[in-house]
Amino acid sequence: MVHQLPKLPYAEDALAPQMSRETLEYHYGKHHQAYVNNLNHLIADTAYADMSLEEIVMKADGAIFNNAAQAWNHTFFFYSLSPSPKSMPSGTLAAAIDRDFGSFDGLKEQFSKAAAGLFGSGWVWLVKDDPSKLSILAESNAGNPLRRWLTPLLCIDVWEHAYYIDYRNRRPDFIQNFWDFVDWSVVEERFVK
Ligand code: MN
Repeated sequence: MVHQLPKLPYAEDALAPQMSRETLEYHYGKHHQAYVNNLNHLIADTAYADMSLEEIVMKADGAIFNNAAQAWNHTFFFYSLSPSPKSMPSGTLAAAIDRDFGSFDGLKEQFSKAAAGLFGSGWVWLVKDDPSKLSILAESNAGNPLRRWLTPLLCIDVWEHAYYIDYRNRRPDFIQNFWDFVDWSVVEERFVK
């Protein structure tokens, strides 16, 4: 199986100026593409060659895991965002957020704090466990909640390549502007699935 870079669900300048065209050209067009390309090279003639991307994320280690998880994580990240998002959760997800974080603002505060505080490169995730309790998970490098049997609902990429063109060292400003584009209709679909 040859893994493909999924099409970005909006134009490369659709999230500007908070996330510029140049950032998307590099982050999606170069970094995300490179993980997909590396994965295809690494799995050729191995037991992973015919597995789905998610199966590789669950089973691989080392370079194959790193590139598969980065390919998966970036698609999940880019597909969480929209230039015309649903700006707040509603329904059962909103109720679960109130129950587990006190309020929507409480969730955003805890998630942003974890994203700002993650040392080095990685991802911060909103996840649900089996009985649908929500929590925030900080993962280094290519870490992915599927490996912990958790359901990912939302993530932010805090590798420097995600924000350095637009924000230089100001990761907290990148995180604050990220919320402008989170599409809660997408997060709700993931929650109820
Ligand atoms: Mn990235």
